[in-house]
Amino acid sequence: MLGGSSQNARIKRILDQDSVILIHGVLTGIFLLEVVLFSAYESITELLIILLGSALWVTVGGIRYYNALSVNKYPALYLTIYHVVFGLFFALYESAYSPYLLIWLVVGYLTHHFYGIRGLIITSGVTALVLLNQAFRSLPSDTNFGEYLRFIGVQMLIFGTISLFFSITGKLNSQDRKILAASVNKAQIERQRITSLINSMGDGVISTDEQGIIKLYNAAALNILDTNARIEEMNVSDVMNIIDKSAKVVNIISEASKRNINIVSTEYLMVYPDGEKINLYLNISPIKLSFQQNSEKGYIISFRDITHEKSLEEERNEFISVVSHELRTPIAITEANISNAQFLAEKGNNPGAIRTSLEAAHKQALFLANMINDLSTLSRAERGKLDMKTESIDPREIMKSLVEDYTKEAATKGLEFSTSIAGDVPESINSNRLYVREILQNFITNSIKYTKEGGVSVVLKGRQDGVEFSVKDTGIGISKSDQKRVFDKFFRSEDFRTRESSGTGLGLYVTKKLMRLINAEISLKSKLNEGSVFTVFIPDLTKDTNRQ
Ligand code: ADP
Repeated sequence: MLGGSSQNARIKRILDQDSVILIHGVLTGIFLLEVVLFSAYESITELLIILLGSALWVTVGGIRYYNALSVNKYPALYLTIYHVVFGLFFALYESAYSPYLLIWLVVGYLTHHFYGIRGLIITSGVTALVLLNQAFRSLPSDTNFGEYLRFIGVQMLIFGTISLFFSITGKLNSQDRKILAASVNKAQIERQRITSLINSMGDGVISTDEQGIIKLYNAAALNILDTNARIEEMNVSDVMNIIDKSAKVVNIISEASKRNINIVSTEYLMVYPDGEKINLYLNISPIKLSFQQNSEKGYIISFRDITHEKSLEEERNEFISVVSHELRTPIAITEANISNAQFLAEKGNNPGAIRTSLEAAHKQALFLANMINDLSTLSRAERGKLDMKTESIDPREIMKSLVEDYTKEAATKGLEFSTSIAGDVPESINSNRLYVREILQNFITNSIKYTKEGGVSVVLKGRQDGVEFSVKDTGIGISKSDQKRVFDKFFRSEDFRTRESSGTGLGLYVTKKLMRLINAEISLKSKLNEGSVFTVFIPDLTKDTNRQ
């Protein structure tokens, strides 16, 4: 994922690792070369000590190499160890003419790196002491003092010149490093700024190279891809399975490379390993870093899940087409009947036929009024909870008003309308009066509409945290297959008895929407030719805070 990796630390680490290889590698090399090529040991014990020493030295080097104990953190400790080890090594083991004396240059470089020119002077001092010691040890005893000095002088001259060279280039390097560090620092801040900007975006963002290998990505990308694995260095087509509308797999990188311009699409789908699909908004932009021919190229892919928007859009389109279709027929019938009535009226001799035409038109007008009513309730329900007010309602009072409203209507069809209250019904519950009434009205009007004999009864029961209303009828009943669809929009049963009475097929769909707004639960039990029971549980919303 996107994160700032410290360039400065990397430079330091490389320097540290190089010096480890040089110092530890060279000294181990000396030992092993001398031991293997020149058999420079006097007994097996001495050989073992030399080999053990080398192994120890390599181990220390290894620990340092892997940064467990960085020389950058403890420079004084390491440099003291190096001075002591090399000092002893040359003083006790090597001759004055040893070419390995050059290892002091590496130590000099290191002290200069950490302590500047003062560090170099200290190392030079230690080197001079070592040389002096070696001169005394290895030159023939009759050599005079002048020769000693000349010998040391020559060696110090060589060492000094090279050290000076190191020092000067080191100083230049250190200036370069300071400039580099400053610009690295600036770049790091920029990078962090961009990193947090991209990571805080809601859209998934993936940056790839020209072949589609992922180089960077943000947290949202992982969210949408539904993974928490590292996807760096993977091919984007392995982590995003994109298909088009005809289910053909699309390689977005090759699409983008063909067109070489921004691709923006809302037509693609992404398929998850378990087969689930989501609609994607996808934007692929080629990266043009500069106009140089061989600058790095690649793509920035940004994407988001638009399944919800897509389904809303599809639902809206379908709804408009269905509603306009449903409205067309009654309007056509109304129009035909009215023009027929007009025609008859012009002739002026058939009042009975005019009346029939007008009655038919009136019926359709009532149907249209019903449908518009349902549609407006639906749009209110669609507007959601924002508009919903809860209030204290008395369930018994609702039952009373139902009796007032429906006894007469049922009686005109020769049906009995009864209500009863069972169990412990609370005095009041908190919900939305209008919605509760509308739900019950829909059930009762349907029951009256689809019942020819018998009656309709409403039972009110108290339940934990709410009340339950059951509307039972002895009507035509609903077949098992229709039971699954009665709450769908514009669904009307194919049963001819249903078609005898007019209806929009929106009542129960609206009921379902309203029910969601007040967290009500509906269940339906029905048997064809025997009757139906619609039961709704209305929760007390004061006790139902976690469900709101
Ligand atoms: P409609 O305007 O057609 O009544 P609804 O959405 O209210 O629309 O009901 C959808 C369908 O469910 C009805 O057309 C009918 O087939 C069936 N239905 C609903 N309630 C009953 C019932 N009490 N008895 C039998 N069928 C019913």
